[in-house]
Amino acid sequence: MSLIVQKFGGTSVADTTRILAAARKAIRAAKEGHQVVMVLSAMGKTTDALIKQAREITERPSPREMDMLMSTGEQITISLMAIALESLGYKAVSYTGTQIGILTDNAHTKARIQSISTEKMRRSLNEGKIVIAAGFQGVDDEGNVTTLGRGGSDTTAVALAAALAADACEIYTDVDGVYTTDPRLVPEARQVDRISYDEMLELASLGAGVMHNRSIEFAKKYNVPVVVRNSGSDAPGSWIVPTPESPTQPVCGAAVARKEARITVVGVPDRPGVAMMLFSRIADAKIPLDMIVQNISSDGRTDISFTVLDDDVSQTLEIARSVVQTVGAESVDADRSVAKVSVVGLGMETQTGVAQKMFHALGDRGINISMITTSEIKISTLVTQESAGEALRVVHEAFNLHVRPTDALGPVELSPQVRASEDRLEGEYLSRLTGMEDIIIESVTLDQSQARLTLAQVPDTPGLAEKIFDRIAQEKLVVDMIVQSVGRNGSASISYTVPRAAYEQAMRLAEEIAQTYGAAPPSGNPKIAKVMVRGTGLRSHTGLASRIFRVLGDAGINVSIISTSERSINITVSEDNGEKARHLISKEFTKEIL
Ligand code: ADP
Ligand code: ASP
Ligand code: MG
Repeated sequence: MSLIVQKFGGTSVADTTRILAAARKAIRAAKEGHQVVMVLSAMGKTTDALIKQAREITERPSPREMDMLMSTGEQITISLMAIALESLGYKAVSYTGTQIGILTDNAHTKARIQSISTEKMRRSLNEGKIVIAAGFQGVDDEGNVTTLGRGGSDTTAVALAAALAADACEIYTDVDGVYTTDPRLVPEARQVDRISYDEMLELASLGAGVMHNRSIEFAKKYNVPVVVRNSGSDAPGSWIVPTPESPTQPVCGAAVARKEARITVVGVPDRPGVAMMLFSRIADAKIPLDMIVQNISSDGRTDISFTVLDDDVSQTLEIARSVVQTVGAESVDADRSVAKVSVVGLGMETQTGVAQKMFHALGDRGINISMITTSEIKISTLVTQESAGEALRVVHEAFNLHVRPTDALGPVELSPQVRASEDRLEGEYLSRLTGMEDIIIESVTLDQSQARLTLAQVPDTPGLAEKIFDRIAQEKLVVDMIVQSVGRNGSASISYTVPRAAYEQAMRLAEEIAQTYGAAPPSGNPKIAKVMVRGTGLRSHTGLASRIFRVLGDAGINVSIISTSERSINITVSEDNGEKARHLISKEFTKEIL
């Protein structure tokens, strides 16, 4: 018998009328012959209200008690839903995370799922009941209630779908599906019929609030077809599946993360191991970092900048300040007025000029970019919060995201083939995971084809990246990685990689650019090695980058550029260290490599 998981978000269960409407959706699926598991969020803004109440008492309530408090929101909805279904003449049973046995680690407020016991749910389903599970919550091995992080009900839903080998996971929300960007911010945004796991994971992790990023990790790992639909209509929605909408479009969507902050550790002694200490302390606190950029400096010191969620700023500053003292760096500063605007697309991997197009769109409107990082399938830029809305709109327009690509694939027909897709990971492999959310690494490889160029002390003006990368494109240089950040005294430092064969040409050009802008003479390395770690959910597993830094730091290997995404972490080191770095990293991840 087929089994469907239906998840309803806060707005979709905000009042009695909507609870009844959701109940009818479940009943319809049951009447069509499916077994149905519902996963529910707290009603409306209940979670926000609970958090506010706690904060009225103290700024830093203990995470354990916050989980106790927040988990009550979902418990209200599930019991009301069971009452609704029973009143409509259907058999139903509600379960909390603890009752089902959603076992998590003990990282309160950001716990990860380790296992799910399906026995109780199966028994209830076989008794003809609709099962109603509380989203967002679990229990650790000592019986403490945990929660999965804001928006975590999506993750509960996809995880249950994975554990029950459901035929599909339907996410009911307040928009018609997945759009090319947030339709509330950009009215021209277009709803897509489908999007790939990799793209959705990246977009979600970069700020597209429609799905909790970790839910897509589950979907990809366990090959769960997910469809995002409007709870207030019967529109077909958007499917999240292995293949992208179009095989040729470079960019499939754009996202903004408004509540971002930039932290800069100034004057860090440039020796192996220093960055490692900083990042591993932050990782230990389970704070996710993004956009890590080191400004290479001439005086033997560097500035390390990175972004964190605004909520994590005070904790991150505390950690950074203690590291500053230990390693003898100069100071730490934080800028809380920034936002991150990113574009994502699998097509970027094979097409050039995507970054340049983005910088161009922003530069043309005079929007200043204070940081840039790229990976194979995404480009992120840091701008001011005031300019973020406009930045998102102009980038959306520049990539014509409102227009459906001519070769776009149509809606997904849910057939057995969808589930049995080629991307499905082998059950045998998954059974080796101790926890369902454990990290998976596909490969660690070495790329010895690149050279690095660095422009330092470039006066920071709007449109700088645009002008530089336009000039580089005119010379038909293919740029791979790009990192830029504004460091001490407001000057920018930009590093990028090009094919080794183009190094001489690239260096001449860099000299010309440096002269034009009154920057310091460029530096570079004609032969760098790039070590690429590929997997799923790499950025959100906070400890990963720090493990890489640790093994390299211990071996005295300096990292010049790092780029992170959910699908890969790439680092560059000097050529003679390449093979050693690849080996050390592979060894470090032996357990996790597929
Ligand atoms: P729920 O409570 O149902 O989980 P959320 O508020 O978490 O709903 O997610 C739905 C919201 O996500 C939409 O109202 C929309 O504003 C926002 N959103 C952000 N990015 C996107 C996107 N790319 N596509 C669709 N919605 C998006
Ligand atoms: N109620 C939780 C929250 O608001 C979980 C969720 O809605 O997904 O974050
Ligand atoms: Mg949500």
